[in-house]
Parts: sequence; C-alpha cells; structure tokens
Amino acid sequence: MTENSHENVPSRQRRRFPGISSRAYEHPADRSALVALRRLTGFDTVFKALSGLLPERSLRLLFLSDSVRVSDAQFSHLNAMLRDACYILDLEKVPPMYVSQDPRPNAMCIGLEEPIIVVTTGLVELLDEEEMRAVVGHEVGHALSGHSVYRTILLFLTNLAVKIAWIPLGNVAIMAIVTALREWFRKSELSADRAGLLVGQDLRASLRGLMKIAGGNHLHEMNVDAFLAQADEYEKGGDLRDSVLKILNVLPRSHPFTAVRAAELKKWSETRDHQRIMDGHYPGATRTRTPPSRIPSGSRPRTTRTRCAPARTR
Ligand SMILES: [Zn+2]
Repeated sequence: MTENSHENVPSRQRRRFPGISSRAYEHPADRSALVALRRLTGFDTVFKALSGLLPERSLRLLFLSDSVRVSDAQFSHLNAMLRDACYILDLEKVPPMYVSQDPRPNAMCIGLEEPIIVVTTGLVELLDEEEMRAVVGHEVGHALSGHSVYRTILLFLTNLAVKIAWIPLGNVAIMAIVTALREWFRKSELSADRAGLLVGQDLRASLRGLMKIAGGNHLHEMNVDAFLAQADEYEKGGDLRDSVLKILNVLPRSHPFTAVRAAELKKWSETRDHQRIMDGHYPGATRTRTPPSRIPSGSRPRTTRTRCAPARTR
C-alpha cells in the first residue's frame, strides 16, 4: 500500500470542515453496535435511572475539585489545540477540558448533558504536539458524535457494579448492557480516531500517537513503519479481524487495541471517502448526532438537546 498523501500537509495549512456531520467519519461498526445497544431491553431504564442519579453538576464539580481546568492561563497549549479542533470540526461549543493527575496515558470524553474532556498527565507527558493534536481531535470527535452519554453510563455501570441493585433489572440484563456498551465503546474508538485524523491531518502523527500509547515513550526503541507492518499483519487476517474484535469484547481492558486501530485508521486514510471529505464533500448541515434526547428521560426532561444546534465556535 502506498503512503497517504496528506501526511506531508503542514499543520499550519489544515482544512476546516464547516457544518460537518459526525456521519462523515462514523465507522460502520460503531453505528451498528450503537443501534444494537439501544435496542437492548432495559437500556432505557438504566439510562433514566443513571441520569436521575448523576446530576451533571456533580460530575463537573468532581473534575473542578480534583483536576486542572484547561484555559488560557493553564495548559494554554492544550487550550489552543482544543479550540483549534473545535474550529476544524465546527463544534458550536468548546467543551471544558481538564488535566487529571494520573501516570497512565489516557483521555476520555464523558458527560450526560454536555461533554467534558479529560486527559491525564501521563498522556500530556507522553505525546508530542502533533500526536496530542490527533488525540484532542479524537476526543472532540467523541463530543461531536454525542458519545459522551454512553461512555458515562459504561463508566458508572462498570465502576458501581455492586451498587446497582436498585436499578429494577436483573444482573443478567445489566451484564448484557455492559457487554453491549463495551462492544460499542471499542468500535466508537474507530470513529473517533478518524475524527482525530481529520483534525490533525497528519497520518503519521496519529499512528505514532497510537504506537506510543501501546508501547510507551520509547520512540528510540520503536518504529512507525514496523508498527504499521504489525498493523498490516493484522489487516491480512481478513475475516479473522471480526473475531479479534469479539475477543477484545470479553477482555477487561477497554482502550488498548492500538495496532488494530492503527490499521483501521491507515486503511480509511487511503479510501475515497476520506479523500472526498478532505476535498470538502461530506455529510453535513443537519446535524443528526446520536440522539440520546430521543430516549425518554422520565422526570428529568432535559438530556442533550443543547448539542444539536449548529453554530460557529469562532
Ligand atoms: Zn476514544
């Protein structure tokens, strides 16, 4: 396979995608897993119960009290990247971003009403600027796709596993929901990686970031081409790839399947779909994001409608 032509585009001349819909970068596996998840018996009940239990403000206060809020005054380079990513993907509202003290490199986008982005100090120390740009774009992609709601539910269901007896569902139903959420979670990473590439517009930086998340900060010990060869080997597995994803579903680790992600991202970067987006042709205008607002929200009829009005960041 030939190298992608966009990887040499200087970061200063990146394209913007006004009005882009998350459908433009949505991986088909992500969409079907989400449809399956929302069809599960009991999912609406769990969603309602949790949104009643977890007031949005508490989540926000938790990070305000225990993390550093990114702004012009704190981690200003991250703030610039965040604003830049929102500008490129045309998010109407820049989500708050926090840096959390944790040596493990990680990033997440959570929140029931409005997305919050959290990156760990481990990640900030691990990645260079262009790698970080791809990661911030990845998280902004989650926000634009409306993923944060489902991620928050998964986070709480897996961390409160013992304490959810009050949800009027059996453990089997809860476990089915957790399994479906995990399956969707991994597949949603593939969509967000694409968003990261659309923001960074530097394939090698995206792949390098994934490689460092897999192997740590040992660039002198690693090699992007060898990592890609590793990804190619995975790619040659053909139909076996599905079974790899299935095995991943039963493993407790949620994020790291980085070579798989690298292979999927590289493959997408070489498609006509990607080229068309880069040329300015993409689904847009009416922003139909994954609409949790369609899930009846019981006594709290608010959910996430605020995210749906298209507007300009700056
Ligand atoms: Zn992600």
